[in-house]
Amino acid sequence: MITLQNFKQKTENKIFDLDTKKTLDYELPMLKFQLFQREKGMQHGFSTRLGGVSTGIYESLNLSFTRGDDPASVLDNYRRVSDYFGVDLEHIVTSDQTHTTNVIEVTSLHGGSGITRERDFTDVDGMVTKEPGLLLATFYADCVPLYFYDSVHKAIGLSHSGWRGTVNRMGAATLEKMKECFGTNPEDVIAAIGPSICQDCYEVSEDVAFAFKKEFLNQEIVLPGKKEGKYQLDLWKANREVLLSAGIKEENLAVTNICTCCNEQLLFSHRASQGRRGNLGAFLMLKG
Ligand SMILES: [Zn+2]
Repeated sequence: MITLQNFKQKTENKIFDLDTKKTLDYELPMLKFQLFQREKGMQHGFSTRLGGVSTGIYESLNLSFTRGDDPASVLDNYRRVSDYFGVDLEHIVTSDQTHTTNVIEVTSLHGGSGITRERDFTDVDGMVTKEPGLLLATFYADCVPLYFYDSVHKAIGLSHSGWRGTVNRMGAATLEKMKECFGTNPEDVIAAIGPSICQDCYEVSEDVAFAFKKEFLNQEIVLPGKKEGKYQLDLWKANREVLLSAGIKEENLAVTNICTCCNEQLLFSHRASQGRRGNLGAFLMLKG
């Protein structure tokens, strides 16, 4: 049984803090990057399995309406997240992730998308906005969340980068969109690579390994696998290379050291659960 106390011990380190909202009914923990905590113009977080109402393989804070969980439970989970951030459900915008590098600008006109109403967009793995009070939400169970905050132009970006997104440089695509929409200079951006699968857990096939060897300078991103003909892929180092080569300063970048697959009781992991799981959420919002 996972308790909040041993969860804190497992996750609090030099990169993350664990913040918890307590009510009479529940305790909702949220992982926070220390680098982002210093910034007062925005709020962020990465959810865990704890603090929700879903049961079984979705226990407990599942944020997916499309993996077979009871929609009423998922909606209750969203209510808790919206309370945590102090917004209404109508002020959350969720992505429609299909492993693309498509990034769109969203506004309050998109509010509630994927929760209280149908989205009017499809195939969107990244979102940017400069509207305060609009909570961006993207979803995970081993793939990599990327967070961006431009403190000069007061703008944010949040994107989903699995292996396809990473090899196609989703992080650079998100920064490019922020430049186009807001005039963002990557040198002003605070960025973070969120909880996701570690190299030791992430076995890939030869075609994926070769695509990364071709695209990236750091050859340690792909290591020989534990099994013949397989490889171990480091999505953390690969995304780090993407972001630094796109102009993010090293001192403005936080990289996770928490693996979803190593912590399957605390975090949803597609690999560890063999696909029987819910979704975690990454959240980012400008303050009003
Ligand atoms: Zn791991």
